[in-house]
Amino acid sequence: MNTPRIEKILIANRGEIALRVMRTCRKMGISTVAVFSDADVRSPHVRFADEAVRIGPAPSTESYLNISAIIEAARRTRASAIHPGYGFLSENADFAKACRAAGIFFIGPGEEVIRKMGLKTTARRLLAETGVPLVPGYDGEDQSVSTLHKQAREIGFPVLIKASAGGGGKGMRIVAAAAQLDSSIESAKREAAKAFGNDTLLLEKYIERARHIEVQILGDSQGNLLHLFERECSIQRRHQKVIEESPSPALPPGLRERICETALSVGRAIGYTSAGTVEFILTPPGEFFFIEVNTRLQVEHPITEMTTGLDLVELQIMIAEGHPIPFSQGEIHQTGHAVEARLYAEDPLNDFRPATGACHTCQFPPAIEGIRIDSGIESGAEVGVYYDPMLAKLIAHGPDRNQALRKLEHALRGTTIHGLRTNRDFLVRMLEHQDFRSGEIHTEFVSEHLEDLIRRISPDEVKLGAAAAALFLHQTLERDAQVLPNIPLDYRNNPYRDPSIRLSVDGEAIEVIWKRLADRRFLISIGDWQVEAEPVEFAPSGIRVSFDGVQRFFRVTQIDDRLFMDLPSGACEVVRLPRYPIHSALAEQADASAPMPGVVSKILVAVGQEIHAGEPLIILEAMKMEQTLIAATDGIVEAILVKQGDVVAPGDVLVHIGATNSTDEGE
Ligand code: ADP
Repeated sequence: MNTPRIEKILIANRGEIALRVMRTCRKMGISTVAVFSDADVRSPHVRFADEAVRIGPAPSTESYLNISAIIEAARRTRASAIHPGYGFLSENADFAKACRAAGIFFIGPGEEVIRKMGLKTTARRLLAETGVPLVPGYDGEDQSVSTLHKQAREIGFPVLIKASAGGGGKGMRIVAAAAQLDSSIESAKREAAKAFGNDTLLLEKYIERARHIEVQILGDSQGNLLHLFERECSIQRRHQKVIEESPSPALPPGLRERICETALSVGRAIGYTSAGTVEFILTPPGEFFFIEVNTRLQVEHPITEMTTGLDLVELQIMIAEGHPIPFSQGEIHQTGHAVEARLYAEDPLNDFRPATGACHTCQFPPAIEGIRIDSGIESGAEVGVYYDPMLAKLIAHGPDRNQALRKLEHALRGTTIHGLRTNRDFLVRMLEHQDFRSGEIHTEFVSEHLEDLIRRISPDEVKLGAAAAALFLHQTLERDAQVLPNIPLDYRNNPYRDPSIRLSVDGEAIEVIWKRLADRRFLISIGDWQVEAEPVEFAPSGIRVSFDGVQRFFRVTQIDDRLFMDLPSGACEVVRLPRYPIHSALAEQADASAPMPGVVSKILVAVGQEIHAGEPLIILEAMKMEQTLIAATDGIVEAILVKQGDVVAPGDVLVHIGATNSTDEGE
């Protein structure tokens, strides 16, 4: 058979997925072209590729979503195919069409399939005729509020409102009762119109304590269609997956076969080619319903690769070249258990808000058998507001679930991200959680167990961290002390006081006092707490200390007076405080400042306007979140320090609020 050969692929994506696709290309002897925005000039995916082309400024609408710039980049580099990765243009039928029109292979399904499955309402209507079980719901074209009300009552509360064109959990609202329906419809419509340019809504019965089960399918242009078994993705936050595993711990063999068979009937009904995913909701009694088809490679595809031993990107490329799938259904087996955790730049202690800034140190544990790390980040990288905050995926494979979970937990503990807050400790706590370990999971797991999952570091460990930080700083000063080298660093003119240092550990002020007992032995006190410490080894990457006879290495990154540290149960940030506390100006309390990095999407007040506590001032948007800043006190808007479209950092003052001209000033 004379099939075309793909010699060079442009990857229309960034971060870990761009790198992951390029690795397979390299393995297959295919050249790669990266595309990049101005924010990604020095990103790893740009350096890894054989060639790279700038496609526009940082905002994705002007770069990674810019169809003509990407097609032009492929033309200039003579790439014969484009792999879209996930997100961005991966499910954009117009993009697939533009590729075809330019004579470039689009590595994915045909544009008609993408279009058919692109709207959840039309996908449901199409599949309703095939007998695939659908969640009770309303997918009609009449979108009037009265119809939506009537339909919601018929479905029965709780009802889930979804944006038909949605993705990434955006535009979704759980509505518990009819009284909330109006406001939820309105806000879902607004969010959907803004994010997807389409405000069509879908109503579904909200299934409580459900499981998310999805099936990987693979089709070729000869009409072969196979499934590569299921993935369970029930651990979610704001309807977005955080931990995924394969096989699902919840499926008895008969049910697995029925779900996989149903996924194939969905694939057949739409004539699916390439790699795709059919998603289902599984109810607590074991009934399952179709929710959607994702017509692309999924973030969590590596767990399928690890359990089946297949390379999905390689298969996608072969299928795009016109080759048939080189094996039959009976030859695919699920071996062992795989689990993936998504590492995000976000702050679980602050409502999982996205974190931005410099990632000073990024280090993953050394490669061991059964551990795969797909990362798009490296030391020195800046994490900005423009793209998804996922930094990396850690995937573990073991002979059974317990062994896979244990490996993954170990790999996460061995991961260092210093400079940015991440969800690493949240993930570790999840893997340690008894109910998670026993497989008792569902899509509300995170909200139900939030307290356990975002537990802070224990007070004793904070003290240990403060002691290690004090020794690290002491060693740094000792190393750097060039003047009067013969005088010990802790020499004091005052013989009655031991040397001390004031630190803030994750915001808590701590005074650490130490007394030298012998050349390298110290007695460290924090309040009544005491420990004997012996620094064993000092390196720029951290300090090895023996505390009361137990040695441990504390990973540290020092940036001026800030230390980013890893303690046994989590990361923390230590700041060296000045000897005397600085009084903060009381007047600043009324001002509104940014609680997270983001872009100012709307200013709701004007200078001179009188406002009352609780009133909205500004809408900020960061990555996938929108947040309204509200006034903390009554007052007058004295100045607005930002304009629409500005990028702001956490703590930046956005609106100055002055006192109202009331007569009762003072007390
Ligand atoms: P998106 O395309 O935005 O990812 P999905 O339709 O795939 O939206 O749903 C995202 C998640 O929301 C699912 O994984 C599931 O956890 C939850 N979900 C979706 N539909 C339902 C439903 N009818 N009942 C309960 N949970 C649901």
